[in-house]
Amino acid sequence: MNMKVKIKSALLAVLLVFSSLSICACGKGGKAEKYTEYIFDYFDTVTTVTGYAENKSEFDKVVETLSTKMKEYHRLFDIYNDYKGVNNIKTLNDKAHGEGNAVEVDISVIELLEFSKEMHALTGGKVNIALGSVTALWHSYRVSAEDGEGEVPSESELLSASEHCDINDVVILKDENKVYFTDPALKLDVGATAKGFATEKLARMLESEGISGYVLSLGGNVRTVGRSPDGEKWNVGVESPDGEETYPALLALEREALVTSGSYRRFYVSDGVNYHHIIDPATLFPSDRYKSVSVVCNDASLGDALSTALFNMSLDEGRKLVSNFEGVGVLWIKNDGNMETTALFDKYSVKN
Ligand code: ADP
Ligand code: MG
Repeated sequence: MNMKVKIKSALLAVLLVFSSLSICACGKGGKAEKYTEYIFDYFDTVTTVTGYAENKSEFDKVVETLSTKMKEYHRLFDIYNDYKGVNNIKTLNDKAHGEGNAVEVDISVIELLEFSKEMHALTGGKVNIALGSVTALWHSYRVSAEDGEGEVPSESELLSASEHCDINDVVILKDENKVYFTDPALKLDVGATAKGFATEKLARMLESEGISGYVLSLGGNVRTVGRSPDGEKWNVGVESPDGEETYPALLALEREALVTSGSYRRFYVSDGVNYHHIIDPATLFPSDRYKSVSVVCNDASLGDALSTALFNMSLDEGRKLVSNFEGVGVLWIKNDGNMETTALFDKYSVKN
């Protein structure tokens, strides 16, 4: 992606405006202004940081702190690259084969894996980070597509990969901060949970430092951190799956996450059919139910895991799942463009 396209997609990914038209506000220490910065280096996506600060250098300091932490998460959760002196998810995939080869990892990796295992259990396996052998197959076909046109993996390739996707084969030795797989062919893919997990951690880092009036967006994982200095909520738009510059929904948020999983983000075409990146573990094929599913709740990790899981469920199953969680609102954009919402999602919505 070139820079211009990246910036455009970052802008489209999230509309961040205050309900009030003022661009300045009076905070405790005087006048605060709104700034925005883009970070292109991590999680294979564009991160947008928007926030109020008394001056540019104060804002830049916040961005720098966020960027440093993001780099750390990016390296730890990377499934494709090695980094000197870092044991990351790729290290686990390459080496954690059997108890004797358990690999020691950073506590953040342990936390991400534990959370992801929990979400697997809570969603009936619809979000499964142990699906890596299958998602890697789809990924390899997607990246070999030329001009967006490519081949589809064969059923037999998919079936043999799916024999190595049992989350119970991922063993976490909590006391030792170690992880190993009882199935050496198992591969982790944390693409469905890592960005939300990192987004929530970054937001909490700001909160713990008393920083407020910010919005973070890591490629569709949005988290608001407090109102503007003059008390306005953020208006956050859900991205149009059709690339239109209007927003299917606009939510007023102050300390919530809004996370979207969409079939329009990473895809290729074969024989006129769109093959995207969210795989239904039941069929081993991209789920064809929706254009996108957006989740609003108070934790970006939960939002990320749930938006992927809900993408792989029928509306009825999804509504039932959501009713098990407190404070989770959902917007489903169906393939025909019609939208379904839960009552809580509607409560956050503002006129658009
Ligand atoms: P995005 O990465 O665009 O935010 P998601 O959060 O929905 O989208 O995550 C999709 C990514 O997670 C895929 O690119 C793939 O790496 C991985 N993945 C695909 N299907 C599943 C699944 N059913 N369970 C867990 N991970 C998945
Ligand atoms: Mg997700």
